[in-house]
Amino acid sequence: MSTESPVAVITGASSGIGEATARALAADGYRVALLARRADRLQALADELGGAALAIEADVTRRDSLVAAAERVQDTFGRVDVLVNNAGVMLLGPFSSEQRADYRQMIEVNLLGAITATEVFLEPLRADGGGDLINISSVAGRTARPTNGVYAATKWGINGWSESLRQELQPDVRVTVIEPGAVGTELTDHITHAATKEATEAFVKDLAIRPEDVAEIIAFAVTRPRRMTLNEILVRPTAQAG
Ligand code: NDP
Repeated sequence: MSTESPVAVITGASSGIGEATARALAADGYRVALLARRADRLQALADELGGAALAIEADVTRRDSLVAAAERVQDTFGRVDVLVNNAGVMLLGPFSSEQRADYRQMIEVNLLGAITATEVFLEPLRADGGGDLINISSVAGRTARPTNGVYAATKWGINGWSESLRQELQPDVRVTVIEPGAVGTELTDHITHAATKEATEAFVKDLAIRPEDVAEIIAFAVTRPRRMTLNEILVRPTAQAG
């Protein structure tokens, strides 16, 4: 891998869509910085990908953690060409005070985490001829339903913020929002409301697409000629109606 190879920073790279995206971008010749809290999972992936990958334990809810990660990326790779804001949690359930900690966590990870990672990595992303910002939203960023109110709020927030950034940062940074429907990952494992967890797992199990399907779309978007941008990509399993 050349020191001239482009560099992608991926948050939430320890599982699911982030892990698959790291594999897809590494296969396309990117050097990849893998950020998440589970350092053992990141290191196993970095070992698999070889010298082109750097595992960095980082929590997107802590700005100091992201600043330290950005310093390591700069020291190791010297540039940033792609930032994938993928880290997320989906703690569904009927709206109630019992889930107030879940609500705060979703806002801090899904929305504030993406905003903070972007402001921390923006300068290197803009440098060296510009870069790509990929924000992972959701079908829930376009439609709200009972039990997903705060999760949907974080993804609607991602969509609105991304559209503003798209206008502000062009032509240096291309901004792409990806809105997946059901994808088979660990996302539902963390739902704390038992009945909602069971129903969501049953729904996802029946029709989910694979994290590799979304990773391929991300790899496609960032490898388009710089004269064009895929601004918004909605991708549902074929059998998902809503
Ligand atoms: P996973 O649970 O497999 O992945 C979530 C990732 O986020 C993990 O790598 C996790 O790493 C990371 N993460 C969570 N909290 C933090 C934190 N505080 N700091 C850093 N990293 C964190 O689920 P998916 O791959 O499905 O989710 C990825 C994204 O895709 C999310 O934004 C999700 O909302 C979105 N999405 C998923 C869909 C689906 O059906 N699966 C549909 C639509 C959108 P760790 O725990 O090691 O920190």
